[in-house]
Amino acid sequence: MRSFPLTAALALCLLVAPACRAPARTEPARQAPTPTPNELPQRSEASPESLRLALAAVSHLHRPMGKPLPGDWLTTSPERGQTFEEYLRIDPVRPSGARRVLYVQPLGEFTPAQRRIVALASDFMSGFFNLPVKLAPEKPLPDIPATARRVHPQWGDAQILAGYLTMSVLLPQLPEDAAALIAFTSSDLYPGPELNYVFGQASFSHRVGVWSLYRLGDADAGEQSFKLMLLRTLKIAAHETGHMFSIRHCTKYECLMSGTNSLSETDRRPLDVCPECMAKICWATNTSPRERYERLARFCADNGLEDERRFFEAEAAAVEKNLKPS
Ligand SMILES: [Zn+2]
Ligand SMILES: [Zn+2]
Repeated sequence: MRSFPLTAALALCLLVAPACRAPARTEPARQAPTPTPNELPQRSEASPESLRLALAAVSHLHRPMGKPLPGDWLTTSPERGQTFEEYLRIDPVRPSGARRVLYVQPLGEFTPAQRRIVALASDFMSGFFNLPVKLAPEKPLPDIPATARRVHPQWGDAQILAGYLTMSVLLPQLPEDAAALIAFTSSDLYPGPELNYVFGQASFSHRVGVWSLYRLGDADAGEQSFKLMLLRTLKIAAHETGHMFSIRHCTKYECLMSGTNSLSETDRRPLDVCPECMAKICWATNTSPRERYERLARFCADNGLEDERRFFEAEAAAVEKNLKPS
Protein backbone atom coordinates (compact mmCIF):
# COMPACT_ATOMS: atom_id res chain seq x y z
CA MET A 1 0.00 0.00 0.00
CA ARG A 2 1.18 3.48 -0.73
CA SER A 3 2.39 5.15 2.41
CA PHE A 4 1.32 8.59 3.54
CA PRO A 5 4.08 9.54 5.92
CA LEU A 6 3.07 13.09 6.70
CA THR A 7 0.24 14.00 8.96
CA ALA A 8 -2.75 15.68 7.45
CA ALA A 9 -2.06 18.76 9.48
CA LEU A 10 1.12 19.43 7.57
CA ALA A 11 -0.70 20.20 4.39
CA LEU A 12 -2.01 23.71 4.87
CA CYS A 13 0.70 25.95 3.52
CA LEU A 14 3.55 23.56 2.87
CA LEU A 15 2.00 22.73 -0.40
CA VAL A 16 2.03 26.18 -1.76
CA ALA A 17 5.54 26.72 -0.49
CA PRO A 18 7.38 25.87 -3.73
CA ALA A 19 5.45 28.61 -5.39
CA CYS A 20 5.83 30.91 -2.36
CA ARG A 21 9.55 30.46 -2.55
CA ALA A 22 9.89 30.78 -6.30
CA PRO A 23 12.28 33.63 -7.04
CA ALA A 24 9.98 36.51 -7.71
CA ARG A 25 12.26 37.97 -10.34
CA THR A 26 11.44 35.25 -12.83
CA GLU A 27 7.74 35.99 -12.83
CA PRO A 28 6.47 37.26 -16.16
CA ALA A 29 4.10 39.78 -14.60
CA ARG A 30 7.10 41.69 -13.36
CA GLN A 31 9.07 41.54 -16.58
CA ALA A 32 6.80 43.91 -18.43
CA PRO A 33 5.45 46.47 -15.96
CA THR A 34 4.45 48.78 -18.80
CA PRO A 35 2.11 51.44 -17.45
CA THR A 36 -1.19 51.55 -19.27
CA PRO A 37 -3.38 54.60 -19.75
CA ASN A 38 -5.69 53.55 -16.91
CA GLU A 39 -2.82 53.13 -14.45
CA LEU A 40 -3.52 55.55 -11.64
CA PRO A 41 -0.73 57.65 -10.18
CA GLN A 42 0.33 56.49 -6.73
CA ARG A 43 -1.90 58.17 -4.15
CA SER A 44 -0.11 60.16 -1.50
CA GLU A 45 -1.60 57.97 1.25
CA ALA A 46 -0.09 54.93 -0.52
CA SER A 47 3.39 56.40 -0.88
CA PRO A 48 6.17 54.64 1.03
CA GLU A 49 6.61 57.73 3.23
CA SER A 50 2.93 57.85 4.26
CA LEU A 51 2.77 54.11 4.70
CA ARG A 52 5.76 54.16 7.06
CA LEU A 53 3.76 56.58 9.25
CA ALA A 54 0.60 54.45 9.05
CA LEU A 55 2.63 51.36 9.87
CA ALA A 56 3.97 52.99 13.01
CA ALA A 57 0.52 54.30 13.97
CA VAL A 58 -1.08 50.84 14.17
CA SER A 59 1.87 48.79 15.42
CA HIS A 60 0.79 49.01 19.10
CA LEU A 61 -2.43 47.20 18.23
CA HIS A 62 -0.63 44.10 16.95
CA ARG A 63 0.93 41.24 18.87
CA PRO A 64 4.53 40.37 18.03
CA MET A 65 4.98 36.75 16.99
CA GLY A 66 5.42 34.71 20.16
CA LYS A 67 7.26 31.47 20.72
CA PRO A 68 5.70 28.93 18.36
CA LEU A 69 3.72 26.07 19.91
CA PRO A 70 4.82 22.50 19.18
CA GLY A 71 3.91 21.67 15.58
CA ASP A 72 3.43 25.30 14.54
CA TRP A 73 4.70 26.47 11.16
CA LEU A 74 7.86 28.11 12.49
CA THR A 75 8.94 24.90 14.23
CA THR A 76 8.91 23.02 10.93
CA SER A 77 9.72 25.81 8.45
CA PRO A 78 12.01 28.41 9.99
CA GLU A 79 11.75 31.58 7.92
CA ARG A 80 13.15 35.06 8.38
CA GLY A 81 10.10 37.00 7.20
CA GLN A 82 9.93 40.09 5.02
CA THR A 83 9.67 43.71 6.11
CA PHE A 84 7.93 46.47 4.16
CA GLU A 85 11.34 47.90 3.22
CA GLU A 86 12.47 44.50 1.91
CA TYR A 87 9.27 44.19 -0.06
CA LEU A 88 9.85 47.52 -1.77
CA ARG A 89 13.32 46.39 -2.80
CA ILE A 90 12.27 43.12 -4.52
CA ASP A 91 10.18 44.77 -7.22
CA PRO A 92 7.11 42.70 -6.28
CA VAL A 93 4.30 41.54 -8.53
CA ARG A 94 1.61 44.22 -8.36
CA PRO A 95 -1.81 44.40 -9.94
CA SER A 96 -1.09 46.51 -13.00
CA GLY A 97 -3.44 48.88 -14.81
CA ALA A 98 -4.26 46.16 -17.30
CA ARG A 99 -4.50 43.36 -14.75
CA ARG A 100 -6.53 44.51 -11.80
CA VAL A 101 -9.45 42.10 -11.55
CA LEU A 102 -9.59 39.20 -9.10
CA TYR A 103 -11.68 36.47 -10.69
CA VAL A 104 -13.36 33.94 -8.43
CA GLN A 105 -14.62 30.73 -10.03
CA PRO A 106 -16.76 28.31 -8.00
CA LEU A 107 -16.07 24.79 -9.34
CA GLY A 108 -18.32 21.81 -8.57
CA GLU A 109 -21.31 21.52 -6.28
CA PHE A 110 -21.99 23.70 -3.24
CA THR A 111 -24.53 23.77 -0.47
CA PRO A 112 -26.40 27.07 -0.05
CA ALA A 113 -24.23 27.94 2.98
CA GLN A 114 -21.01 27.15 1.11
CA ARG A 115 -22.23 29.29 -1.77
CA ARG A 116 -22.74 32.18 0.66
CA ILE A 117 -19.22 31.70 2.01
CA VAL A 118 -17.70 31.87 -1.49
CA ALA A 119 -19.65 35.06 -2.22
CA LEU A 120 -18.56 36.61 1.08
CA ALA A 121 -14.94 35.62 0.48
CA SER A 122 -15.14 37.42 -2.86
CA ASP A 123 -16.42 40.58 -1.16
CA PHE A 124 -13.79 40.35 1.52
CA MET A 125 -10.93 39.97 -0.95
CA SER A 126 -12.17 43.00 -2.85
CA GLY A 127 -11.97 45.08 0.33
CA PHE A 128 -8.76 43.49 1.52
CA PHE A 129 -6.87 44.24 -1.70
CA ASN A 130 -8.88 47.18 -3.00
CA LEU A 131 -9.41 45.39 -6.30
CA PRO A 132 -12.53 44.66 -8.32
CA VAL A 133 -13.66 41.06 -7.88
CA LYS A 134 -15.75 39.23 -10.44
CA LEU A 135 -17.57 36.20 -9.08
CA ALA A 136 -18.20 33.91 -12.05
CA PRO A 137 -21.25 31.64 -12.28
CA GLU A 138 -20.70 28.17 -10.83
CA LYS A 139 -19.25 25.59 -13.19
CA PRO A 140 -19.43 21.84 -12.79
CA LEU A 141 -16.14 20.07 -12.30
CA PRO A 142 -14.76 18.92 -15.64
CA ASP A 143 -14.03 15.25 -16.27
CA ILE A 144 -10.91 14.57 -14.26
CA PRO A 145 -8.51 12.03 -15.82
CA ALA A 146 -7.59 9.01 -13.72
CA THR A 147 -4.04 10.33 -13.34
CA ALA A 148 -5.38 13.44 -11.59
CA ARG A 149 -7.73 11.85 -9.07
CA ARG A 150 -7.66 9.18 -6.42
CA VAL A 151 -9.50 7.74 -3.48
CA HIS A 152 -7.43 8.18 -0.35
CA PRO A 153 -6.39 4.62 0.48
CA GLN A 154 -6.87 4.97 4.23
CA TRP A 155 -9.70 7.46 4.56
CA GLY A 156 -11.70 6.77 1.42
CA ASP A 157 -12.10 10.43 0.46
CA ALA A 158 -12.40 11.12 -3.29
CA GLN A 159 -9.65 13.63 -4.10
CA ILE A 160 -8.56 15.73 -7.07
CA LEU A 161 -4.97 16.64 -7.89
CA ALA A 162 -4.78 20.37 -7.14
CA GLY A 163 -2.15 21.05 -9.79
CA TYR A 164 -4.40 19.58 -12.47
CA LEU A 165 -7.12 22.08 -11.63
CA THR A 166 -4.74 25.06 -11.63
CA MET A 167 -2.71 24.26 -14.72
CA SER A 168 -5.11 22.28 -16.94
CA VAL A 169 -8.47 23.77 -15.99
CA LEU A 170 -7.90 27.32 -14.75
CA LEU A 171 -4.86 28.49 -16.67
CA PRO A 172 -6.48 28.11 -20.11
CA GLN A 173 -9.37 30.28 -18.82
CA LEU A 174 -7.23 33.06 -17.34
CA PRO A 175 -8.76 36.36 -18.50
CA GLU A 176 -6.47 39.03 -19.92
CA ASP A 177 -7.40 41.53 -17.23
CA ALA A 178 -6.98 39.11 -14.31
CA ALA A 179 -4.73 40.01 -11.42
CA ALA A 180 -5.50 36.42 -10.41
CA LEU A 181 -8.03 33.66 -11.08
CA ILE A 182 -9.03 31.81 -7.93
CA ALA A 183 -11.28 28.77 -7.88
CA PHE A 184 -13.18 27.51 -4.86
CA THR A 185 -14.27 23.91 -4.77
CA SER A 186 -16.07 21.75 -2.24
CA SER A 187 -14.02 18.74 -3.37
CA ASP A 188 -11.04 17.44 -1.44
CA LEU A 189 -7.65 18.18 -3.02
CA TYR A 190 -4.25 16.52 -2.86
CA PRO A 191 -0.94 17.93 -4.05
CA GLY A 192 0.88 14.72 -5.03
CA PRO A 193 1.20 11.07 -4.11
CA GLU A 194 3.06 11.51 -0.85
CA LEU A 195 0.76 13.84 1.05
CA ASN A 196 -2.68 13.35 2.45
CA TYR A 197 -4.44 16.47 1.28
CA VAL A 198 -4.04 20.17 0.66
CA PHE A 199 -6.33 23.10 1.47
CA GLY A 200 -5.23 25.02 -1.58
CA GLN A 201 -2.53 25.47 -4.13
CA ALA A 202 -1.51 28.42 -6.24
CA SER A 203 0.87 29.12 -9.05
CA PHE A 204 2.07 32.62 -8.42
CA SER A 205 3.86 32.97 -11.73
CA HIS A 206 0.70 31.93 -13.58
CA ARG A 207 -1.72 33.85 -11.33
CA VAL A 208 -4.05 30.91 -10.76
CA GLY A 209 -5.02 29.13 -7.56
CA VAL A 210 -7.58 26.71 -6.19
CA TRP A 211 -8.95 26.50 -2.63
CA SER A 212 -10.97 23.70 -1.13
CA LEU A 213 -13.78 24.13 1.38
CA TYR A 214 -13.82 20.39 2.04
CA ARG A 215 -11.92 20.45 5.33
CA LEU A 216 -12.78 23.90 6.62
CA GLY A 217 -15.86 22.85 8.57
CA ASP A 218 -19.58 22.44 8.11
CA ALA A 219 -21.16 25.72 7.09
CA ASP A 220 -24.63 24.18 7.28
CA ALA A 221 -24.37 23.09 10.93
CA GLY A 222 -25.57 26.31 12.55
CA GLU A 223 -24.49 29.88 13.06
CA GLN A 224 -21.28 29.21 14.99
CA SER A 225 -20.12 26.59 12.49
CA PHE A 226 -20.90 28.94 9.62
CA LYS A 227 -18.93 31.74 11.25
CA LEU A 228 -15.93 29.50 11.92
CA MET A 229 -15.87 28.24 8.35
CA LEU A 230 -16.31 31.77 7.03
CA LEU A 231 -13.36 33.07 9.07
CA ARG A 232 -11.14 30.19 7.91
CA THR A 233 -12.10 30.73 4.28
CA LEU A 234 -11.48 34.48 4.47
CA LYS A 235 -8.08 33.97 6.09
CA ILE A 236 -6.91 31.34 3.63
CA ALA A 237 -8.20 33.19 0.57
CA ALA A 238 -6.54 36.46 1.59
CA HIS A 239 -3.31 34.71 2.65
CA GLU A 240 -2.87 32.89 -0.65
CA THR A 241 -3.83 35.92 -2.71
CA GLY A 242 -1.24 37.90 -0.73
CA HIS A 243 1.40 35.44 -1.92
CA MET A 244 0.34 36.19 -5.49
CA PHE A 245 1.55 39.74 -4.89
CA SER A 246 4.97 38.53 -3.68
CA ILE A 247 4.15 38.86 0.03
CA ARG A 248 6.10 36.22 1.91
CA HIS A 249 5.29 34.58 5.21
CA CYS A 250 5.33 36.98 8.11
CA THR A 251 7.37 36.22 11.22
CA LYS A 252 7.37 39.59 12.94
CA TYR A 253 3.77 39.64 14.20
CA GLU A 254 0.82 37.33 14.62
CA CYS A 255 -0.41 38.02 11.12
CA LEU A 256 -2.75 36.67 8.49
CA MET A 257 0.36 36.23 6.32
CA SER A 258 2.14 34.04 8.90
CA GLY A 259 2.58 30.45 7.75
CA THR A 260 0.37 27.87 9.41
CA ASN A 261 0.56 24.10 9.65
CA SER A 262 -2.96 23.39 10.79
CA LEU A 263 -6.46 24.76 11.08
CA SER A 264 -5.93 25.36 14.80
CA GLU A 265 -2.95 27.57 13.97
CA THR A 266 -5.02 29.37 11.32
CA ASP A 267 -7.78 29.87 13.92
CA ARG A 268 -5.29 31.60 16.22
CA ARG A 269 -4.25 34.12 13.56
CA PRO A 270 -6.06 37.45 13.14
CA LEU A 271 -8.26 38.27 10.17
CA ASP A 272 -5.99 41.17 9.25
CA VAL A 273 -2.37 41.48 8.33
CA CYS A 274 0.20 43.13 10.57
CA PRO A 275 1.44 46.71 10.02
CA GLU A 276 4.34 45.62 7.79
CA CYS A 277 2.11 43.51 5.55
CA MET A 278 -0.61 46.20 5.52
CA ALA A 279 1.94 48.63 4.12
CA LYS A 280 2.90 46.09 1.42
CA ILE A 281 -0.74 45.61 0.38
CA CYS A 282 -1.52 49.32 0.37
CA TRP A 283 1.58 50.15 -1.63
CA ALA A 284 1.06 47.30 -4.12
CA THR A 285 -2.60 48.16 -4.65
CA ASN A 286 -2.37 51.95 -4.31
CA THR A 287 -4.72 51.99 -1.33
CA SER A 288 -5.30 54.34 1.58
CA PRO A 289 -4.80 52.37 4.84
CA ARG A 290 -7.64 54.25 6.52
CA GLU A 291 -10.09 53.54 3.70
CA ARG A 292 -9.02 49.89 3.66
CA TYR A 293 -9.57 49.49 7.41
CA GLU A 294 -12.95 51.20 7.18
CA ARG A 295 -14.06 48.96 4.30
CA LEU A 296 -13.04 45.85 6.20
CA ALA A 297 -14.77 47.09 9.37
CA ARG A 298 -17.98 47.53 7.36
CA PHE A 299 -17.66 44.02 5.94
CA CYS A 300 -17.28 42.60 9.46
CA ALA A 301 -20.19 44.67 10.77
CA ASP A 302 -22.40 43.40 7.96
CA ASN A 303 -21.49 39.80 8.69
CA GLY A 304 -21.61 39.56 12.46
CA LEU A 305 -17.84 39.49 12.98
CA GLU A 306 -17.89 41.82 15.97
CA ASP A 307 -14.41 41.25 17.40
CA GLU A 308 -12.90 41.73 13.96
CA ARG A 309 -15.03 44.84 13.33
CA ARG A 310 -13.73 46.43 16.53
CA PHE A 311 -10.16 45.66 15.57
CA PHE A 312 -10.44 47.16 12.09
CA GLU A 313 -12.14 50.23 13.57
CA ALA A 314 -9.32 50.65 16.10
CA GLU A 315 -6.81 50.44 13.25
CA ALA A 316 -8.75 53.03 11.20
CA ALA A 317 -8.90 55.35 14.23
CA ALA A 318 -5.16 54.98 14.91
CA VAL A 319 -4.30 55.90 11.32
CA GLU A 320 -6.76 58.79 11.36
CA LYS A 321 -5.28 60.15 14.60
CA ASN A 322 -1.81 59.91 13.10
CA LEU A 323 -2.88 62.01 10.12
CA LYS A 324 -4.26 64.86 12.22
CA PRO A 325 -1.88 67.72 12.94
CA SER A 326 -1.03 67.75 16.65
ZN1 LIG B 1 1.54 30.70 2.73
ZN1 LIG C 1 2.67 40.49 8.61
